Amino acid sequence: MTPLQIRPPEAAAEHNKERSFLQRAGLTTFATGMFLFLVAATGVSKGRPLLFLLLSVGLTCTGALVYFLALAKEAPPGIKNNHIFSNAVTYRGWNAWILGVFLTLFYIALYWFPKWIENWVRITDPLSLLITGKPADRWFMYGAFYTVAVLVMGARMILVKYRHNRYQIIRTLSVMFFQLGFAFLIPNLLHSLNQPDFYFSYFWPLKYDYLFPKTAHSLLSHPGGLGFFMLFWGAAMTFIGTPIFTYFFGKRWYCSWVCGCGGLAETLGDPYRHLSDKSLKAWNIERWLIHSVLVTITIVTALLWINSLYEGAIFGKFSGAAAKAYGFYIGAIFSGVIGVGFYPLMGARVWCRFGCPMAAILGIIQKFFSRFRITTNGGQCISCGNCSTYCEQGIDVRWYAQRGQNIIRASCVGCGICAAVCPRGVLKLENAPSETRYNFDKID
Ligand code: SF4
Ligand code: SF4
Repeated sequence: MTPLQIRPPEAAAEHNKERSFLQRAGLTTFATGMFLFLVAATGVSKGRPLLFLLLSVGLTCTGALVYFLALAKEAPPGIKNNHIFSNAVTYRGWNAWILGVFLTLFYIALYWFPKWIENWVRITDPLSLLITGKPADRWFMYGAFYTVAVLVMGARMILVKYRHNRYQIIRTLSVMFFQLGFAFLIPNLLHSLNQPDFYFSYFWPLKYDYLFPKTAHSLLSHPGGLGFFMLFWGAAMTFIGTPIFTYFFGKRWYCSWVCGCGGLAETLGDPYRHLSDKSLKAWNIERWLIHSVLVTITIVTALLWINSLYEGAIFGKFSGAAAKAYGFYIGAIFSGVIGVGFYPLMGARVWCRFGCPMAAILGIIQKFFSRFRITTNGGQCISCGNCSTYCEQGIDVRWYAQRGQNIIRASCVGCGICAAVCPRGVLKLENAPSETRYNFDKID
């Protein structure tokens, strides 16, 4: 359905009335959990963290899972995007704005005003004590809620939305696995053992400080060989692993299967994928912006190393200030506040598409060297536009499909949703010899 076919509000109201008892029970439980979660922020949870953790997060997750199971049981097979342009929460209505403002404020508090969210940190104490043996800090709380969001919304992808699509099920299981294991449990277990908190699934330049001299010196001076291994792993994955994997599988091996940012976008952000801007202007901004961020972090890292080698004699405090500015504007504001806070208004891949320097490198390799492409069986295309509508990267997939051209765009994260929603089986994600990727002779 295109925006031109927006249903009147009564249609959405009608849709709400259609919900079964089990669906309504799930939604009520979910709303109760969310309400208690908000109440916990006032401090009433003090002295009862476990009770509030179970009631707020527990009820929210249980309610969501009951709702998903009810949908899976009662809904007919197939991918449903019904009412997506008439439902206020998925089409920039008042509740989408409230959600956007809430997420934005949460990130602002997380980075700069942690006192605002101290009571939420405290309700995660029981979980932190269980995993790390220490009370929670704001980053533990953030990691825990982030992981819960990926797991619960991942369950929605597997149980309901894409339950008949094997590629989507395996891909979603992969992002859930990497978020839970590599981005949450392993760093926190390392923390409990007084080892450096290291994320084995994030690499420079996304985790930009991993190749900063300060991190390198700190890891190298860590007793035992683990610090050295971490540094070696980070550098090897940046300079060797990334190009090799991207050559064979395209950008998708990381952006849609491993990365935590992509994982959140593909699960929590799935209801908003149609909000991506498909205009040529957005494509131009995307190319300029993402490559500017990549150039900036490369220069900042080089300045830091030069300064470190000359013991501060060349740039003085300038390189450190540049790194700090990058962390503030790109690491916090762009990737966090805008990247996630604007999900309900601009779609879920704003950071991945416009800002992530890792995505920029992967995109360059994908465009010029990779074996990955989306092939299109143009004769079968009925120009319905489903593929373009649900491309979270704003790619006008239909344009290529109508011409029978292979799609080899730097920004394509290989999520495969365009192929999943195509009613005619026109699109296929493939890896094959790179020389045969471009089939421009198909242009009439
Ligand atoms: S073109 Fe298809 S596979 Fe690529 S990002 Fe868009 S929807 Fe995902
Ligand atoms: S490729 Fe499929 S989804 Fe895209 S316009 Fe053609 S028929 Fe529709």
